[in-house]
Amino acid sequence: EPQLSMPKAGAPSTGKPAVTPDSVINLDHGDPTMFEEFWRGTGSAAEIVIPGWQTMSYFSDVGNVCWFLEPGLDHEVRRLHRLVGNAAVDGYHVLVGTGSTQLFMAALYALSPRAGSAAGAAPMSVVSTAPYYSSYPAVTDFLQSGLFRWAGDANTFKGDTYIELVCSPNNPDGAIREAVLSSESGIAVHDLAYYWPQYTAITKRADHDIMLFTVSKSTGHAGTRIGWALVKDRDVAKRMTKFIELNTIGVSKDSQLRAAKVLRAVSDAYELPEMKEAHRLFDYGRRKMVERWSMLREAAAASGIFSLPEETSGFCNFTKEMAVTNPAFAWLRCDREDVEDCASFLRGHKILTRSGSQFGADPRYVRVSMLDRDDAYDIFVKRLSSLQ
Ligand code: PMP
Repeated sequence: EPQLSMPKAGAPSTGKPAVTPDSVINLDHGDPTMFEEFWRGTGSAAEIVIPGWQTMSYFSDVGNVCWFLEPGLDHEVRRLHRLVGNAAVDGYHVLVGTGSTQLFMAALYALSPRAGSAAGAAPMSVVSTAPYYSSYPAVTDFLQSGLFRWAGDANTFKGDTYIELVCSPNNPDGAIREAVLSSESGIAVHDLAYYWPQYTAITKRADHDIMLFTVSKSTGHAGTRIGWALVKDRDVAKRMTKFIELNTIGVSKDSQLRAAKVLRAVSDAYELPEMKEAHRLFDYGRRKMVERWSMLREAAAASGIFSLPEETSGFCNFTKEMAVTNPAFAWLRCDREDVEDCASFLRGHKILTRSGSQFGADPRYVRVSMLDRDDAYDIFVKRLSSLQ
């Protein structure tokens, strides 16, 4: 239910409406509009022009497992991971999806036993440690597939055939996570949407079997709807590709070209000597996130009724410095005895957040987006600090 403002005829939409000091502030979704300011400053670096005759074919690279992947996007994805050092790319297939959400569904399809196979009688159990990203149960069960089924918190799961979703840093609480289950027939899918230097120290080059990423959180281009998967096994990569073929016959080439250009602008700013420092995305993102987290911690302390997760830090191999974790969401707890439902308490003060109950957790917690525009974020922090 995102509220979209009405654009002038022919003009592009701008997302959520502008806010005033007494507006309702909607921080329920993780809409990454904070990054607009950065991209406004980069001039034409991330601009593309697509002539009317281009990107008309369904096909991009017929020799590739992922036949609808634009080679330019494949190239820029690998280049950026090599620059940042957050994930291994050699020996991996790159798959593109309409957001990483589509690739998540593709992974469930690819990893579940095939209908008709010996193991194919019961649906595959899909689990994740609570608090888990609220879309995992929602997306897993909305079509009531016979192939897979949401089975809740990984910590209380009994059985050895499962798909474990490992989100690190975790949505909603920012925790650095590893798989909690292990068995011969269990499989982990690593959702690394937030494993970028603006949010956390890059402490190791991740090399899991299936890793999901998205421009939504890395560069802030959620509206472009481009995600990618790094997949080791060729058969799994083929089956994931098959899902996307059946679901949407590929992924918008126009969006892929834009995503490739955006990723290229990010890498260029670090790798080309003539580039300005102001155009370095991760430096900008880290600075903003550090500033926002310090504002939030001050506001929570001023109010006296909210608590936040402890700050953690690590040595970042990308920046070669110690870095604190600045999660893209605040996992905020209301400590007031009489408030059992923090989301409705905040709603009463015109702050919209997502209840802990949607993440398999206590409703005394809420998840608050840290990636909105400055005006909304400033009003939120100010309002929060005044609550008693
Ligand atoms: N994984 C996680 C952990 C997320 O937080 C999100 C976005 N909220 C996604 C995946 C989905 O991202 P996309 O926009 O690429 O579908």
